[in-house]
Amino acid sequence: MRLEEMSWPTVSSVSRDAAVVVPIAAVEQHGAHLPVFTDSMLLGEVVRRSAEVLGDEVVWAPLLWLGNSHHHMDFPGTLSAAPRTYLDVLGDLIENMLTHGFRRIVLLNGHGGNIVPASQAVFEARQRHRQRTDLLLLSATYWLLGSQPTDLGPGFVQNSMGHACEWETSMILKLAPRLVGEIDAIEPVSMGDPFEPASRGWITKDRSAPGHIGDPRQASAEKGEILFSRFSEDVAAFLKRVASWDGRSWGSEK
Ligand SMILES: [Zn+2]
Repeated sequence: MRLEEMSWPTVSSVSRDAAVVVPIAAVEQHGAHLPVFTDSMLLGEVVRRSAEVLGDEVVWAPLLWLGNSHHHMDFPGTLSAAPRTYLDVLGDLIENMLTHGFRRIVLLNGHGGNIVPASQAVFEARQRHRQRTDLLLLSATYWLLGSQPTDLGPGFVQNSMGHACEWETSMILKLAPRLVGEIDAIEPVSMGDPFEPASRGWITKDRSAPGHIGDPRQASAEKGEILFSRFSEDVAAFLKRVASWDGRSWGSEK
């Protein structure tokens, strides 16, 4: 069910135990070869594929394209809410859904910079409504739900998500090849070592002059199809767990 297509009486008639999903993405530079709407396009496709499997089990809010992308602001075309502003936007969206009576709310994320604010937003919302015993407030990032797509081959060189990298370039090649620039001459940029296990504050220019992180030369539309199908299967399986939650337990069967 797509919220944008529903009237208010229709929304009112939906079970309050339905899973309500807010897809959150970004508009930000993706190297010299991919469009700035990459994260929003990729998450939109993962949502489209997952929604086909899930049918009426989930209410999908419209995708929020404004994300936390201040680390990319040195690159033209990036549009970003400041981190604290973004945290408030996510908090307000959660409050909107709670006001309408929904109890199972998922921020489904498609951008690395949103991971921390999304988990903070659901944490803060739980503290604000600490008297409730019926809430399931979750944030999840589509490429971190369990699959290792590289296990399926063929010939993946990256085993994790970079930026405008083998993985993202492959998925845009699958989805909208006319939007992908020349990739054969792009020098790879290593993922680097951000002083792990510490958490380092960074801007993109600390890590990459051209803006990408990873190896876009390795991209192909076939790899893009593998990534999309694995990630959308993961999202559908995760949201089925949310929809079938018993309303009380801490966890749920996978
Ligand atoms: Zn991206």
